[in-house]
Amino acid sequence: MEVQERLAGIRARIQAACARAGRDPDEVTIIAVTKYTTLEVAEEVLAAGLVHIGENRWQDVQPKWEAIGERAVWHFIGSLQTNKVKDIIGKFSYIHSLDRLALAQELNKKAASLAEPVKCFIQVNVSGEETKHGLAPGELEAFVRSIADMSHIRVVGLMTMAPHDSHGEAARSVFSGLRRLRDELNGQQIYPYPIPGLSMGMSGDFETAIEEGATCIRLGTVLVGQG
Ligand SMILES: *Cc1c(COP(=O)(O)O)cnc(C)c1O
Repeated sequence: MEVQERLAGIRARIQAACARAGRDPDEVTIIAVTKYTTLEVAEEVLAAGLVHIGENRWQDVQPKWEAIGERAVWHFIGSLQTNKVKDIIGKFSYIHSLDRLALAQELNKKAASLAEPVKCFIQVNVSGEETKHGLAPGELEAFVRSIADMSHIRVVGLMTMAPHDSHGEAARSVFSGLRRLRDELNGQQIYPYPIPGLSMGMSGDFETAIEEGATCIRLGTVLVGQG
């Protein structure tokens, strides 16, 4: 199946999920995760009208980035080593995996030369699985305080992943948990800007994520296949 056909089906599912939750589908941004696929498929994604592309390893994405460049808005969704920040800074507008102070410091330093702050989602390990990256929910407030005055990064949201084996309903408490954490942070006003975003939901659970308030869903397999 072509990306365009798959996208039509996905859009219908997004609309239905939004209707169930009383949300406007325009509030939900699709990030096409092309990490499994080739440049040709990434071009198909753009031709289908999507502009947000998610990737998780610079070594793999580099040829795609060089061919596509600013025709796409790039999202870094994988765990990010501090020494790799220099490779991606200025190329990726969004980092979805901010999860530690050393990484925030390096991003803030390397982004100083850019015209705009680099937009970041703080990754939170809501499910508490040991294999997952991200801050524990209890660490979030202190972390936000510690980065609040870094002017070259801008926290725009929180990001999480549901456990691998949880489809749909089992993921719901993880997603609603992330939403509550975001709402608490905004209520406390410890960050100088509102934090509106929720990056949550993948191929197996994006409808539940939308029902729980996702503003960005990260779709790989369901949109581009396995490559
Ligand atoms: C690979 C990946 C995705 C996409 O996964 P699918 O299940 O194929 O949609 C989303 N988010 C992150 C962080 C990923 O690494």
